[in-house]
Amino acid sequence: EAKSRGRGQVCYFNNAMRRKLKRQADIENDLQHGIKNDEFELYFQPIFSLQDPHIVSFEALVRWHHPKTGFVPPNDFIPIAEQTGQIIDLDLHLLELAGAQLQKWRRAGMPTIRVTVNVSSRHFASLEFVDFMKEIYTKYQLPNGTLCLEITESGLIENLSLATRIIEGLEPLGVKLYLDDFGTGYSALGYLHQLPIHVLKIDKSFVDQLTQKENPLVDAILSLAHSLKLTVVAEGIENPKQWALLKRKGCQFGQGYIVSKPLPADKAMELLLKHTEMVLPI
Ligand code: C2E
Ligand code: MG
Ligand code: MG
Ligand code: MG
Repeated sequence: EAKSRGRGQVCYFNNAMRRKLKRQADIENDLQHGIKNDEFELYFQPIFSLQDPHIVSFEALVRWHHPKTGFVPPNDFIPIAEQTGQIIDLDLHLLELAGAQLQKWRRAGMPTIRVTVNVSSRHFASLEFVDFMKEIYTKYQLPNGTLCLEITESGLIENLSLATRIIEGLEPLGVKLYLDDFGTGYSALGYLHQLPIHVLKIDKSFVDQLTQKENPLVDAILSLAHSLKLTVVAEGIENPKQWALLKRKGCQFGQGYIVSKPLPADKAMELLLKHTEMVLPI
């Protein structure tokens, strides 16, 4: 009996593994086609001031409308695209989409609108990325600083001097760098003061904990940011308690379902029009 159950488990394991591998292979195959076929859409989630609540910018978050399997969440394909290197093409495509959307909004009478786009740290290994960003700014006539970037720490420190040159190369465009998911993974604490970044995003996992009690790590991150003269955005604020705590501790900006989920471009614009216009530069 044990033997047959054992065999069953092996079989089950193989099937699960096979399904997973098949799914990864499908995603890998479909990604390139999906870019050409315009299957990716950017949603926009507001970043707001915690002091005197108003929207200061939007984070662009990708959504994949797959013709066969329907909606695919980013956590299902971004890691695969990272592994295969397809993230480079995907990111460049999404930067184009963000640039085009910004231009559209500006033409519709929203001159102060700003967007951040998530990009892989792989881009910070070649100076070509600076030229690409220059092209986007020129092509869509973007005023300096209106299209900014979010990156995670991992990967950045592997080639610190080149990454630094690239970030500095983006400075004439006013491109600010947001360090995403700060505090998770292997923190590059020793390198933080060397990186010419502008904003720290406190990871949602820390903000989640604030629902029960205060977390000394949040204080530590805020005081670190303060001494490095970095702006802080807290991710994933869902309730007023988290908001009040973060505000009291001097965190300037936030993001989360308490104000809005990521929205399609039209809905994001409606939300912005209901609130006061974006004024505070981050
Ligand atoms: P991220 O950049 O840290 O984005 C924040 C994630 O948290 C988003 O998930 C957002 O929808 C979600 N979120 C925001 N506020 C709340 C909240 O109050 N409660 C909860 N439960 N969730 C909240 P999403 O859109 O599924 O994206 C997941 C991750 O995928 C992103 O994490 C980012 O690392 C990656 N990603 C998304 N879009 C892109 C993209 O265009 N390019 C690249 N390279 N990565 C992307
Ligand atoms: Mg992000
Ligand atoms: Mg994040
Ligand atoms: Mg994240």
